[in-house]
Formats: sequence, structure tokens, C-alpha cells
Amino acid sequence: MKTEQQAALNIVLFGPPGAGKGTVAKLVAAQKQLIHLSTGDMLRQEIELGSDIGREAAGLIAQGQLVPDEVVVAMVGNAVARHIPCPGFIFDGFPRTTGQAAALDGLLAARHAAITLMIALEVSEQEIIRRMLHRAEVEGRPDDTIDVIRQRIITYHEKIKSTADYYRAQGKYATVNSSITPDNTLQQILKQLSTVNG
Ligand code: ADP
Repeated sequence: MKTEQQAALNIVLFGPPGAGKGTVAKLVAAQKQLIHLSTGDMLRQEIELGSDIGREAAGLIAQGQLVPDEVVVAMVGNAVARHIPCPGFIFDGFPRTTGQAAALDGLLAARHAAITLMIALEVSEQEIIRRMLHRAEVEGRPDDTIDVIRQRIITYHEKIKSTADYYRAQGKYATVNSSITPDNTLQQILKQLSTVNG
């Protein structure tokens, strides 16, 4: 029997806000039978529940700032622990800092698993702003206003983007063009995965 490390596909889906991480992660998860973990969705659930985490996160999210590493790492740790064994995870919006990336390696190492690949979604800034403003009309997310969108893009460039270097240094980094359709992005990702996971 294969151990989880040999069998599991653990993917980090990366990219600027509005790149389509949530949409594409759902498609990849369905196709590869992976558990989809979105820290943005988890934090929004905590806010809805009115939990301590939710109260701490709400103000930061509304200002386009990052929630502290220890908060998101603990949340992901609990979620990962709930799925033993499993065919693997697709992490959406996590890790966003090198500290989170190192913590994720620790969480996976504890179950003899590792990240297979970080896949970065690439799309122009003009297009991500257009998408988020459209999403604001459909979903009404409070952080999809033009001022918060601007701040989220600044936070992405100043604090998040360099997390890719952590995976680049390990030869675990690939990019796909996410500006056409979700299905087109999915097909590019499946092609990338076929090179690393049979
Ligand atoms: P987007 O990628 O479009 O910004 P998300 O739903 O992934 O949307 O995240 C919404 C907000 O939740 C972020 O702007 C940030 O405040 C917070 N957040 C989500 N994931 C993380 C994380 N891994 N670390 C810190 N903050 C996070």
C-alpha cells in the first residue's frame, strides 16, 4: 500500500486577490478528489459565527490587511487534522507568508506528506480589479470595494508575493495564465500536474 506521502497530491494555489483561486480550486479539487481548504472562506465563517477568531479577523479583512500567521496556521492545522487519511489537499489563499509556508511544511511532515507544487495564477491587474468589482455586485463581499481592493493589491505586492520564492527555491513552482476561462485554467493546471504526479 502507498503511504500518504507517495499517494497524496498537495497543491498550493497562489495568486493576487481576484485571480480566481476559489473558482479554480473547486474545479481542481473535484477533478483530483482533493480536500479544498480556503483560509478566506474559513475566516468568513468565523466572522459569521461571531467567534474570537472572527472578531479579530473582521477588522483586518475589512482593511485589506493580513490576519496574523498564528491565527491562520492554527485554523489550517485543525482543518488538516480532520482529514486523515485523504488523497491530498488544495490550499487556496494559504500560505501567504514564508512563516505560514514553513508551518504548513511542519503540518504535512507530521503526517509524512509534503507540498507537491505551488501553482501561481497569473492575470493582469486591470482584469483582477474588474473581476472583484463584478464579484462585489454578485456576492456583496465587504472587502470588494475599490479602496479595499487597492489595499489588498498593495498587501499582495508588499507581503504576499515573495512567498512564491519559498517554493521556487525548492523547484516546486509553476505558473498558469488565469485570464481566459476557469476551465482553460483548470486544463493548464492538470497539464502541469501530469508532469509531477504521473
Ligand atoms: P483574496 O485572495 O481575493 O484576497 P480571500 O478570500 O482568499 O480573498 O481572502 C480574504 C481576506 O482574508 C484577505 O484579504 C486577508 O485579510 C484574509 N486572509 C485569507 N487568507 C489569509 C492568510 N493565509 N493569511 C492571512 N490573512 C488571510
